[in-house]
Amino acid sequence: MNIHEFQGKSILAHYGVAIQRGYVASSAEEARHMAQQLKTETGTGWFVIKAQIHAGGRGKGTIQETGSRGVVLAKSLDEVPEKAAAILGGHLVTLQTRAEGKKVNKIYIAEDVYAPGASEPREFYMSILLDRSAGRNVIVYSPDGGMNIEEVAEKTPERIFKETIDPLTGVTDFQCRRIAFNFGLSGNAFKEMTRFVRSLYSAYVGCDASLFEINPVLKTSDDRIIAVDAKVTLDGNGLIRHPDYAAMRDTTEEDPIEVEAGAAGLNYVKLDGNVGCMVNGAGLAMATMDIIKLSGGDPANFLDVGGTADAKRVETAFRIILKDPSVKAILVNIFGGIVRCDRVAQGIVDAYKNIGNIQVPIIVRLQGTNAEEAKKLIDESGLAVHSAITLQEAADKVRTLIG
Ligand code: GDP
Ligand code: MN
Repeated sequence: MNIHEFQGKSILAHYGVAIQRGYVASSAEEARHMAQQLKTETGTGWFVIKAQIHAGGRGKGTIQETGSRGVVLAKSLDEVPEKAAAILGGHLVTLQTRAEGKKVNKIYIAEDVYAPGASEPREFYMSILLDRSAGRNVIVYSPDGGMNIEEVAEKTPERIFKETIDPLTGVTDFQCRRIAFNFGLSGNAFKEMTRFVRSLYSAYVGCDASLFEINPVLKTSDDRIIAVDAKVTLDGNGLIRHPDYAAMRDTTEEDPIEVEAGAAGLNYVKLDGNVGCMVNGAGLAMATMDIIKLSGGDPANFLDVGGTADAKRVETAFRIILKDPSVKAILVNIFGGIVRCDRVAQGIVDAYKNIGNIQVPIIVRLQGTNAEEAKKLIDESGLAVHSAITLQEAADKVRTLIG
């Protein structure tokens, strides 16, 4: 599950990771109020205003309606409302969003931490994720942080370092020091960095994250180490242990049909093709998508109705698939192991009648327990549902029906 920067930062702060002070606002007026508060608390006269969307690249992104960037600096309190208004409510297009961008409902306003001083501020890159081949967490970091990390990875990959973490020891003091050393730090900044890495790693493990990407990690001119950005992805399977994090979910950032499917207990992912599919089991769903491709179609979705493909779920699944206007045919591919095919067939017939006025052809392939009875039920229902027993037969029907 993805969360917003301000939410990610609240988790980091809870684990003792240093962040700059900041607040969320959803109106220009509120932004001014928050800036005033920041001024009182920190003495800052400069503020950074950041669009809160589930996508990166905001600093270089553009608000379509106003031309504003997604991250801007306000150099006085008076600049805050206007700059906030140029972001709020607009659609932010970045390299990571679709062409139409993402609507900005909230902004994060924080004290500016880039003020020059004894030394220049420096930006580093740091992320933590699971290295699946090693079966261990890995800290990936680079002294060349900031907004061009993709370019660093491409042009100077030797500037990207890794520390693989032993799950028994966690991140060791030696590893923390090696990271600070590779950043070229010394003195107090070196010490601060080792502390930063340790608390960041404990946050990663503690909140059951699957990704932390902190870009930039900032060394301030007075040698503090701060997480200036925070992309935090939480492991959905770990949310049961963190109801407070589960409540951070922002469904307005997600595909509305996927949200509805999730609420009904269906695993649905929208794709770009024209053949809707309804399948039980993720593996069979993948195979079905392949067979659709082979038959000349393109899957419009991935949909796993799960092990209990009862009439109610089948109906919900149909309704969800039919919301996609590009669907030209629906292929139902159910293997009856524990579920009996005739039950599923009855569910399909009922759903067809309940929904009414289904224009697209439906090809049903039921295999396994009571498959013959199921085929009979469908063939005798009088509905425009085409039944098939073998996968090839189903694929051929898809091919003829989508032309
Ligand atoms: P992203 O573009 O979505 O990754 O958003 P970031 O949070 O990384 O912000 C983008 C850039 O804005 C950073 O790389 C910084 O250069 C700049 N920035 C962020 N916070 C501040 C701040 O407090 N002060 C100043 N002057 N610049 C900031
Ligand atoms: Mn960033």
